[in-house]
Amino acid sequence: MGKLNKVLSVTAATAAIGGTVLATVSPASAAARDGKCDSGEFCYYFNSGNAGSISDFTSSVDDYGTEQPSCYDFKGAGNGKGKCIKNNAASVWNRSSKTVRVYYNSNYGGAYQDFKAGAKGNLNSTLKNQNASHQFSPSSRANLSYGLYKASGGRITCGFDGYTSTPGRHEGIDIARGVGSDVRALVAGKVIYVARGRNGSGGLSTISIYNSAANKTVIYLHTAPRSSVSVGDNISRGQVIADEAWRGVSSSSGAHTHVEMRLGRQTHAAKSVGDPHLDNPNPTSFWRSQGYNVR
Ligand SMILES: [Zn+2]
Repeated sequence: MGKLNKVLSVTAATAAIGGTVLATVSPASAAARDGKCDSGEFCYYFNSGNAGSISDFTSSVDDYGTEQPSCYDFKGAGNGKGKCIKNNAASVWNRSSKTVRVYYNSNYGGAYQDFKAGAKGNLNSTLKNQNASHQFSPSSRANLSYGLYKASGGRITCGFDGYTSTPGRHEGIDIARGVGSDVRALVAGKVIYVARGRNGSGGLSTISIYNSAANKTVIYLHTAPRSSVSVGDNISRGQVIADEAWRGVSSSSGAHTHVEMRLGRQTHAAKSVGDPHLDNPNPTSFWRSQGYNVR
């Protein structure tokens, strides 16, 4: 039953005091996903107005799954019982002591709605029947994939040093959304190199933006640089610099933006494909320092 059985098993605690073993059985409350909205839990309801079947949680879930029997589902009695909760919830009750954030996308991505401790209500028109993950005590960081496109649906298709079948070491992070999507600068800085390239193998494009405060360069590959972007420009965080494309990629189905952090001032990306040497350090701490989760 997969995730259905991911139930916290802490229902009893024992302690030995002065040679006497005391057994303490906690109430059958917040520990179990039992379709009842107990104190300490965050709950989805199938219908608006906190009606219909309930799905109850005590922790964050980044991907609900979409098919039975492995999906997270509505467990309580009533309308919707047994249905997967992804894109099926209409209202919530946050009985936990933390803020809970409901997201449009899996992996805590895309549009979201916050529910403070104790809050009860309907999901807004964006999130109603469009819920895909939820997070207790949500991070104030944005996802890298969201920062790049400022729109839902961006996803990491290959992480740093994440090649599985390609020879070499992947020096950046590949993020895809769809050909033509606006691509935004993740970090402010000065443009130090632009190569416009062309779609297809051998047409690699590059935009290199140097941030002097961090003394790092962020390099974007495979996009179609906006005609207005040229060497010497000062770019602000979030500014549109390109459109997603497949410049230096063999087919449009492989379109993505390769985002690469390099130490110091570097005009070109490190060689990834076919090069067994990894030149760049793992960029996770850099992205976190810039306010992003690597998601
Ligand atoms: Zn890449």
